[in-house]
Amino acid sequence: MAGMLYLVPTPIGNLGDISIRCRQTLEEADFIAAEDTRVTLKLLNHLGIKKSLVSYYEHNKAAKGNVILDRILAGETCALVSDAGSPAISDPGEDLVKQCAEAGVTVCAIPGPCAVITALSISGQSTGRFCFEGFLSTAKKSRREHLQMLKNEERTMIFYEAPHKLLSTLEDMTEVFGPDRPISLCRELTKLHEEVVRTTLGKAVEKYTAAPPKGEFVLVIAGAQPVIPEVATAEDAGAHVAALMAGGMSRKDAIRQTVTDLQLPKNVVYEAALAIETE
Ligand code: SAM
Repeated sequence: MAGMLYLVPTPIGNLGDISIRCRQTLEEADFIAAEDTRVTLKLLNHLGIKKSLVSYYEHNKAAKGNVILDRILAGETCALVSDAGSPAISDPGEDLVKQCAEAGVTVCAIPGPCAVITALSISGQSTGRFCFEGFLSTAKKSRREHLQMLKNEERTMIFYEAPHKLLSTLEDMTEVFGPDRPISLCRELTKLHEEVVRTTLGKAVEKYTAAPPKGEFVLVIAGAQPVIPEVATAEDAGAHVAALMAGGMSRKDAIRQTVTDLQLPKNVVYEAALAIETE
């Protein structure tokens, strides 16, 4: 019988956040696949668990994914952990899950620490509808294109960012979304120096220009204000029909065209056309 893949979330700062179920799964798995074996070894030592570790990270995932899958298909149970947080969220675990799912292996995700959800819940921004955008590209052109695509996004937007790229990312965001757009910068979550700076993009640029950012960040940005389409009135309809007729269009065609152009009901435009004739 085939084994299973367990996705085991680990603390994003506070070791107390490891759950009983995660601990049990790490103890009971046949082996652990870890993004950074040194980081995971520290956690296992803290938990008093001794277990065989296999490294699975961005630059060996193609080859190691097959090795891990073969072991699972042969009946072993694998616990996948990333450096911190939930495996498969902005880390190579995504590929192993795809590989296992395609091979018909059961994948079980244990809920637990995840920077995106922790940041959203503490941000003070609207949480009803949100989109997670992960890391922006390091290439300026594609970073700008990505942001341009989000210019009119109305949902709350969440980004991961490394501290050394934070300032240039905030500058790009300010240019695309405008300096007044609200942002919550969630730093060092669950750690000793946890901080949430709720401000605007323009002020965030000023702050981190004066004092360079340190630590891990999640950026939570308010969505764009909805664009309320202008609603045409009967008066507009009358003027539009008159202008079209003055240009040589028949009354019937001018009415039809006005219905399309101004997105008004036909009877409203018809009444407006009658009114201009009787003026
Ligand atoms: N899989 C992880 C998760 O579930 O959160 C995320 C992995 S991703 C490679 C790492 C990024 O998550 C960091 O660059 C940072 O943006 C964010 N992050 C992780 N831990 C954090 C923390 N304690 N405080 C703020 N951001 C954090």
